[in-house]
Amino acid sequence: MKYALNALCRLESRQHEHFGDVYFIQKATHRDDVIIIDAQTAKIFKKIKSNEQLSIEEERRNSELLARLVSENILVPLDAPRIKKTKPIAKNINIWLQVTDSCNLACDYCYIPSLYSDKNLRSDIFYLLFNHFKDIEGLETVHLKLAGGEPLVAFSRWEQGVQWLRAQLKSIGIKLELRLITNLTRLTNEMIGFFLKHDVIVSVSIDGLGATHDRHRKHKNGSGSFNTVIANIKRLRESGISPSVMITVAGDNYLGVPGLVEYLIERDMTFRVSDAKGGYLTAEQFEQTMDAVNSLLGKSLEQGYPVSRRVIFSDLRTHEAASTPCSMGSHAAAIYLDGSVYFCHTEFQAGEPLGHLNGEQNLLDIIRKGKNKHFGLSDDCQSCKYRFVCAGGCPLYRVDGKSPMCNVYKKVISQVFDIYEREKGK
Ligand code: SF4
Ligand code: SF4
Repeated sequence: MKYALNALCRLESRQHEHFGDVYFIQKATHRDDVIIIDAQTAKIFKKIKSNEQLSIEEERRNSELLARLVSENILVPLDAPRIKKTKPIAKNINIWLQVTDSCNLACDYCYIPSLYSDKNLRSDIFYLLFNHFKDIEGLETVHLKLAGGEPLVAFSRWEQGVQWLRAQLKSIGIKLELRLITNLTRLTNEMIGFFLKHDVIVSVSIDGLGATHDRHRKHKNGSGSFNTVIANIKRLRESGISPSVMITVAGDNYLGVPGLVEYLIERDMTFRVSDAKGGYLTAEQFEQTMDAVNSLLGKSLEQGYPVSRRVIFSDLRTHEAASTPCSMGSHAAAIYLDGSVYFCHTEFQAGEPLGHLNGEQNLLDIIRKGKNKHFGLSDDCQSCKYRFVCAGGCPLYRVDGKSPMCNVYKKVISQVFDIYEREKGK
């Protein structure tokens, strides 16, 4: 097949101290409309640009990447039928699925705007999702985050639907990977059996050790939840499940985070440490915490703790260059109880949905309507050496086109890359 290049696209590359050469397609429509590609895709792009025709063998070997370039409107197939309805293309899709707005805890800083609504998960949600997934070309894996509220208080509402979805997707060759976002205060043996059977990854939120966690994560009667959470982590580990921990650093737990990190390293656990968005943490507090955390991680290398495989740092893309801090607007979205599709879960019932599972449009096309929410990066970000690691931070909380944590992120990225280098040398 002959291809022409979209005249609005040009190939660029940037030398990155950690990732080496990073290739990307820059679209003329907006300076932030950037698509990272690999070296092989760049090679094909250059060939087509110099009007060389691809051999049949080259087309066969690169069919996946050619399809991606066509779906991104970077390449135009010249001998394709004129009117051809193309299906949306993606290899992976990541969905946050709100399965309940109910929660058994009363954390006073919860960031889900729809929390405690009286709405329930619509009964046909998994059927609707399947109909969207099956129409995505090249889809290999669906990553589904079961979240809330507290998803385990509504276990009976989604457990069968999830199993049905898994079986349906499997029958058409698509894998369903499940992750549960939980406070881990409600755990039955039946749930543990379900996690084991369906390889569910369990992510549990912890703020700190003991009283630091209990300051906010209280039951409705005021009692803390830390002891229950730790006991349930122990139960999961004894059953062969290794939960990962999500730590959000805020103004009132930042001093307790290093203690928690030490505890997790000692137990060889996986965790993510993120800065609270929306003004709950100052840059000075975050810097102090991350200096202590990274010093602990540096020392943990001596005990053989594999930092690069165990720790994620906020929304920073320290493993692979990326043009945006998250996949929202590209191949990820948050779906509310009623089937409305949002750019991010922090917008449930507060922001405008991008679309609805009920409509005519495929989920992937709905998701891509949110792409421009990532636009508007500052000039500093454009020229920053960490443009493809930090990407300006969460687009919903930037100030003047960049993250309010900009300087701390720069320091953290450099510390983390240094730790990775030392880990490689071990
Ligand atoms: S927010 Fe700061 S660290 Fe991040 S890309 Fe922009 S200038 Fe770089
Ligand atoms: S938009 Fe912001 S809060 Fe939402 S997933 Fe992306 S980085 Fe996270």
